[in-house]
Amino acid sequence: MARNPLAALAEKYSMDATITVAEQVTPAMRRVRLETDRPIGFPYTPGQHVRIELRDPLSVSGILRPADTLRTYTIWELAPDRRAIELRIHLYGGDGIGLAWARAARPGDRVTFWWPQCGFSTREAAYHVFIGEETASAAFGPMLRALDDSAAVYGVVEGDRPEHDLPLPRERALRRVHRHGAPAVDSRVLAAAVAELQLPAEPGAAYVAGEARTCRMVRDVLVREHGWPRTAITVKPFWAPGKRGLH
Ligand SMILES: Cc1cc2nc3c(=O)[nH]c(=O)nc-3n(C[C@H](O)[C@H](O)[C@H](O)COP(=O)(O)OP(=O)(O)OC[C@H]3O[C@@H](n4cnc5c(N)ncnc54)[C@H](O)[C@@H]3O)c2cc1C
Repeated sequence: MARNPLAALAEKYSMDATITVAEQVTPAMRRVRLETDRPIGFPYTPGQHVRIELRDPLSVSGILRPADTLRTYTIWELAPDRRAIELRIHLYGGDGIGLAWARAARPGDRVTFWWPQCGFSTREAAYHVFIGEETASAAFGPMLRALDDSAAVYGVVEGDRPEHDLPLPRERALRRVHRHGAPAVDSRVLAAAVAELQLPAEPGAAYVAGEARTCRMVRDVLVREHGWPRTAITVKPFWAPGKRGLH
C-alpha cells in the first residue's frame, strides 16, 4: 500500500522530545531543554533553528490554519551526544501561542519539533557584526560561540533593561543598549547605536535579526552611514507586528 506522503514528511523531518529543564535565565528569557527520544541525525549549523509544533501542521485544522501550528526558535545549544537541544525564549508582553507554550513549559512535557533545512549562520569575513534585540540574542549566542577565537567581532544588542540582557559569548565586543519600556518595533535606540558603531573602513559581514521594520532600518543605517553594500548584510526578520509565526 502507498505510504501517506505527509506521514513520510513528518517521519523524515520531525522529532519527539521531553522537556527536562524549563527555567528563567533572566526575568524575560526562558531556558527550555528538550531531550530527544533518539539521537539527532540532522545536519547542524550554529544559528540554525527548529520549529516547535503547537498543533499538528499536517492535520486538517493545521492545513486550514498554518499560522497556528509551528513556532520558530534558534538552537541555543546542541548537546555533544546529539540527544538534546536548548532554546532561549524571549517572554515578550503579548499573547502568541509560542509565548504561551514557553511560559507554561514544565519538565516532563512532551513536544514535537521540526528541523528545517535552512538557517541563519556566519560566513567567511574579515570581521563580524551582530545587531538585534532579545530574540536575535538567542541566535547570536550559538553563532558567536562557534566563531574562531581570532575572529574580530562588533555589535549592538538591544534589550528592554540591563537585568534582561542574556549573557553572550564575546560579550566585551558587544555594545548593549536599552529601550526602557519603548517598543522594539522601529527601534530608534538600536538604529542610533548602529550609526555610532566604530567599524573598520572596509565592510565585514553583518547579521541583523529581530523585529522586521527595525531590521530594515538597521540595514539602511549600515548602507547609508557606514557605506556598506547590501550584499554584506544578512537580514533575518524574526517577528513583525500583526504577523504570526514568521520562519
Ligand atoms: C529563524 C528564527 C529564529 C528565531 N529564534 C528565536 C529564539 O531563539 N528565541 C526567541 O525568543 N524568538 C525567536 N524567534 C522569534 C519567534 O519565532 C517569534 O517571536 C514568534 O512570533 C513567537 O511566536 P508567538 O506565537 O509567541 O507569537 P506570534 O503568534 O508569532 O505573533 C503574534 C504577535 O506577537 C508579537 N510578537 C511576536 N514576537 C514578539 C517579540 N519577540 N516581541 C514583541 N512582540 C512580539 C507580534 O506583534 C506578533 O504579531 C525566531 C524567529 C525566527 C524567524
